[in-house]
Amino acid sequence: MTTLDDLPIRDDLRGKQPYGAPQLNVAVQLNTNENPHPPSAALIADLADAIRRGAATLNRYPDRDAVELRKDLADYLGHGLTGRQLWAANGSNEILQQVLQAFGGPGRGAIGFEPSYSMHPIIASGTSTRWIEGGREEDFSLDPDRAVALIERHRPDVVFLTSPNNPTGTALPLEVIRRVLAAAPGMVVVDEAYAEFARAGTPSALSLLPGHPRLIVTRTMSKAFALAGARVGYLAADPAVVDAMLLVRLPYHLSTLTQAAARVALAHRDELLGSVDALRAERDEIVAWLRQRGLTVADSDSNFVLFGKFPDRHAVWEGILDRGVLIRETGPDGWLRVSIGTEDEMAAFRAALEGVL
Ligand code: PMP
Repeated sequence: MTTLDDLPIRDDLRGKQPYGAPQLNVAVQLNTNENPHPPSAALIADLADAIRRGAATLNRYPDRDAVELRKDLADYLGHGLTGRQLWAANGSNEILQQVLQAFGGPGRGAIGFEPSYSMHPIIASGTSTRWIEGGREEDFSLDPDRAVALIERHRPDVVFLTSPNNPTGTALPLEVIRRVLAAAPGMVVVDEAYAEFARAGTPSALSLLPGHPRLIVTRTMSKAFALAGARVGYLAADPAVVDAMLLVRLPYHLSTLTQAAARVALAHRDELLGSVDALRAERDEIVAWLRQRGLTVADSDSNFVLFGKFPDRHAVWEGILDRGVLIRETGPDGWLRVSIGTEDEMAAFRAALEGVL
């Protein structure tokens, strides 16, 4: 049998592990920070119409530059942004990959502050970008002095800040982002996949875009917009950054059907984002409940909660799974992460955890 080691794969990929959140067929799935609400009948009907119209043109390539979608995304974000400052791709993962294709690569380095989104180092590896691992404080916040010192020492080409951070839920104050922008010699990516779930008073880095041409804010339609299956992510940045993306994107990377689906979802945004308030309330409730149970819980601005600490977290994860609820074994040792589901799903999670403890 041929194994990976038998193939002439790049040396720097040998021994690497792929991204691997388990996809198990379990009744209650609270492991990949999806939105638990499927599209409404009205949205499905409009999506089907748009897909039918798009289907009639599938002999032709899509709009290579997704101009209309980018305008709609700019309109959604506000902050005076225009379509020229927006760029879209198949999920924010592809956006991040394009960013490293353009600004990272062989001989270049990127820094992240871990624990953070596990795909950042994996995309760095795929693009042959050296990964430099920074740390966080005990409460998962970022100490700006330590972050700046690390950046000054390593002079990375790309800095990743994740706010709110996955898997901890921690949002960054704008002051920390400003300090990093002032210190970083290269691009600064603020991954805001969970921005819509932030608590009141947690501002977006979008407000820092004017005057910061090396700032890139990435977003996704996978979470708040409940569109994970459609694969749509985007960035907002200076138009020059979009010009850089044009150099590395594959032509026609975003299909006609994807562009159409994203535009319909944006047109339905009031309905789609309507679930966000309820998910936030559900999150705050589960944080309080876990703390009442004597567990340690990281403050969360996201649609998930990191809690612990368990001497044997795998046993707890497995016990919860045995009771029909899939959560995620991720983050520092001893911690587990649960995504926020519907009221019923959270009740099932609480019952499962009580059964295990
Ligand atoms: N950034 C962060 C911080 C994430 O947690 C995720 C998804 N888990 C993504 C980016 C990628 O999401 P997508 O590719 O679905 O947009």
